[in-house]
Amino acid sequence: MTIRPILIHPDPRLKKPADPVAEVTPVLRQLATDMLETMYDAPGIGLAAPQVGVMLRVMVMDCVKDDATPARPMVLLNPEVTWESDELSTYEEGCLSIPEQYADVERPAQVEVRWMDLDGVTQTERFAGLWATCVQHEIDHLEGKLFIDYLKPLRRQMITRKMQKLKRERART
Ligand SMILES: [Zn+2]
Repeated sequence: MTIRPILIHPDPRLKKPADPVAEVTPVLRQLATDMLETMYDAPGIGLAAPQVGVMLRVMVMDCVKDDATPARPMVLLNPEVTWESDELSTYEEGCLSIPEQYADVERPAQVEVRWMDLDGVTQTERFAGLWATCVQHEIDHLEGKLFIDYLKPLRRQMITRKMQKLKRERART
């Protein structure tokens, strides 16, 4: 297992739609393992392949937050929202590619998602609460969309400038 470097916004790879996964190969399994490792290490609750520079429709998540509940590492290949609730909910979102910036984003409160698992089997599940927000946030990444794209332009530009500054600082050290 390897912790992979996470791309920081702005980066053209974070703005591009990713390609569908055709089949589960050893290379893909390795990617999924590395992505989970990278996500837990960050720490974060979700990560999409473009965030580690791989332009494939792969995402991982685990929204279990309390220590009493066992971890639930999930790997979703080619995830698709097949249903969304009319009811909306607002969560303060963040992103491993936009460190230390948070903003309220309104999304459907529940979604049904279909995906392929690492055995190549199609799965469907309805997500609610934090899981619903997280899965929609990660699927957005696969379309080249970031949570700051939901914000007003001025706020988005402010955050982008902060990230440019952060990247310059990191490049220097
Ligand atoms: Zn993100």
